[in-house]
Amino acid sequence: PLALLNDPGLLKTDALIDGEWIAGTSRFDVADPATGARLADVALLGASETAAAIAAANAAWPAWRAKTAKERAGILMKWYQLLIQHADDLARIMTAEQGKPLAEARGEVVYGASFIEWFAEEAKRVYGETIPSTDANKRFIVLKQPIGVCAAITPWNFPIAMITRKVAPALAAGCPVIIKPAEQTPLSALACAELAQRAGMPPGVLNILTGDAESSIEIGGVLCASDVVRHLSFTGSTEVGRILMRQCAPTIKKLSLELGGNAPFIVFDDADIDSAVEGAMVSKYRNAGQTCVCANRLYVQDSVYDAFVEKLAAKAAAIKVGNGFEAGVNQGPMIDAQALAKVESHVADAVAKGARVVVGGSRGAGALGQRFYTPTVLSDVTAEMLCAREETFGPVAPVMRFKTEAEAIALANATEFGLAAYFYSRDIGRIFRVGEAIEAGMVGVNTGLISVAEVPFGGVKQSGLGREGSRHGIEDYVEMKYLCLGDI
Ligand code: ADP
Repeated sequence: PLALLNDPGLLKTDALIDGEWIAGTSRFDVADPATGARLADVALLGASETAAAIAAANAAWPAWRAKTAKERAGILMKWYQLLIQHADDLARIMTAEQGKPLAEARGEVVYGASFIEWFAEEAKRVYGETIPSTDANKRFIVLKQPIGVCAAITPWNFPIAMITRKVAPALAAGCPVIIKPAEQTPLSALACAELAQRAGMPPGVLNILTGDAESSIEIGGVLCASDVVRHLSFTGSTEVGRILMRQCAPTIKKLSLELGGNAPFIVFDDADIDSAVEGAMVSKYRNAGQTCVCANRLYVQDSVYDAFVEKLAAKAAAIKVGNGFEAGVNQGPMIDAQALAKVESHVADAVAKGARVVVGGSRGAGALGQRFYTPTVLSDVTAEMLCAREETFGPVAPVMRFKTEAEAIALANATEFGLAAYFYSRDIGRIFRVGEAIEAGMVGVNTGLISVAEVPFGGVKQSGLGREGSRHGIEDYVEMKYLCLGDI
């Protein structure tokens, strides 16, 4: 699929340090999750190259921070435009290594690029403060200054957007960055880096370290231990988030963490059921259920339960599963065998404990068997089942019954996670009550799609720290400095 790029120069397989493409001393394979075929071999870096990238970023910092915000914004805006111009090629690269259908990949390119546009604009609005003085001889001023060298460790499920929402605010604020993309999807990251080079990003300001699963641990260890790296932003599993947090303790590094979710999706009896079914479809099955804001637990009020399950199952059965490059396909493969095995184990556990498979419930037929899972709806699901407690990260909708509003809120909050939540109701009083009571960083009310660059994305409880996107998203990348002027 990568032979068909309009601009073959976007297929980069070396890492980027200090403006130079680095082949590394060894390589690792990147495969197409739909077929298992090898796509490319990519530079496998380790501790020494990580140290070199940190030194390069640190050396690039003074000149980058000294640029005016408008100058940095100019480079970011150029980068944004290049991503949009090359959206078709970037989508092909993404579908090849990640599996999501081409149209969905193209949507992510545009969404990912929108963070660069947004933070290019926000770069110019990092305002400080003057504080009314309590002493006639003094003046109080607050500056906001770039935090320093930033590191970003990102996952495979959104190979571009999870990078841009971290890197764009860091760069806008005046910080150089070092990115360690997921081992499954380095090609999208490297293509974006090539476009950053073309946009005029100075050497050392944006660096990409690639590695396989094992060397990612080594690279991560060096980034966390460095006292030059002042901030780490990570999106991924809560388990790895805890490891990184621990590794950052000795240097008291600032952290932005976007970790696991376990999103509840509640349908009240006063909801527009067709709209709730539509919302559940996009929230649940997008990216084959492999997003941290995917509806993971569906709670439907008693009197509308049967109607909802029936309509959802009919829609789920109509999803076309297949290779993301095929026309009309709207669900691609799972990222790897482990992801598929987790989905299978959740369904087997639910069935063993009395759940009913309304639709799906198996791997794809024939050639699709090794890598695909059919869109699934489970009814009669109970709180004891694994799929009601853990993030399934696959195309499985477990539907549970509830009777009262209070019960629905208690069920929704019975988790250590708090990223996204969704509910459907037409009652304005209920919308406020439930919206306020739900323990989550983001709540979709009568919608299953909530993410855009303009709003604060992030979680509460063990779903993470900090917010990405919005005018708040740049705050993690600046430090406040209080200047107290005496002898006035
Ligand atoms: P997922 O379950 O989505 O694959 P992970 O949390 O395992 O999420 O991985 C997300 C990112 O974290 C990837 O870039 C991966 O290489 C990286 N990673 C995983 N384990 C570690 C670790 N111990 N140290 C540093 N990075 C890690």
